[in-house]
Amino acid sequence: MSRINVAGIIFHCTQCGKTHKVEFEGGASLTQIGESGIFRQVELSQKYAPSDMRDFYTKPSYLRDEIVCSDCYNDKYKSEMQETFNADVQELISLADKMDTLKEDYLSQLNKNIEEITTKWLNAASLDSFKEISTDVFIETLGHRHLKYPARRYKLIDQFMNESGLEVIDYARKLIMDSPEVRDMQEKFHNSFMPLLDKSEKILTFLENSSSTANIYFFIEEKIDQARNLNDFIRYEKTIREPKKSTPDLTVFRKYGLNIKEVRDSFLDIPQPGSLLKEDRLIKEVKAKITALADSIF
Ligand SMILES: [Zn+2]
Repeated sequence: MSRINVAGIIFHCTQCGKTHKVEFEGGASLTQIGESGIFRQVELSQKYAPSDMRDFYTKPSYLRDEIVCSDCYNDKYKSEMQETFNADVQELISLADKMDTLKEDYLSQLNKNIEEITTKWLNAASLDSFKEISTDVFIETLGHRHLKYPARRYKLIDQFMNESGLEVIDYARKLIMDSPEVRDMQEKFHNSFMPLLDKSEKILTFLENSSSTANIYFFIEEKIDQARNLNDFIRYEKTIREPKKSTPDLTVFRKYGLNIKEVRDSFLDIPQPGSLLKEDRLIKEVKAKITALADSIF
């Protein structure tokens, strides 16, 4: 059961303990907060309101949330450097979104192209065309005069695949890398991706040089009177609740950590055409093709 009867939300400041209670429009109603939401609420209720735990699922309840109130933010954290970090991370998040979209498009186009290239190659392949991939093994297997005997044929095909599998994969990989469509796609991707990567690298270098640790902390501002999606994974009318109109327009802050190296690594994780080839599948397809060709000849 990942729906609970939610009447509102209580924000707890992790620094001074002050709370802000927000009532949701429509009063208590079943809200789909998901499994992870339930775990988090059980944890927070145990911490802040253990007596509510008995009828957690039945009684109209207030969700709990941890924030830093604006007084504590201003007293303890606010500085020119902290504000710069906050703004820089916002910029990084927006760059990361754009880079992710580019990578996803590139990846799906590449996968489509790789499939087309290998299919086209195998459709046009003759038995003899495998000779150029692995000449010595070919002579002893697919080129062997015993290929015409079914009892020997499949053993010879197995032998060719076992001894030349790597060459077959290398050949297909080269077809992919040399394909004008793939090269063109690669160039277009790099032209739009690299400027974003350069921008984010400048920010990461700045953050790295400004921090004595591998992590930096940043804060995201939030209004307590904004509508909120209360589920980590889905979003629809049963997961979104709107605060009552009478809710004051207060700002709170959420503190997050960012590991500079991890972020940089994730930005640099760029799809490589050659490594996207599904090797096991290719080997199966090549073997099926060779078998069909050999069967059709004899
Ligand atoms: Zn506070």
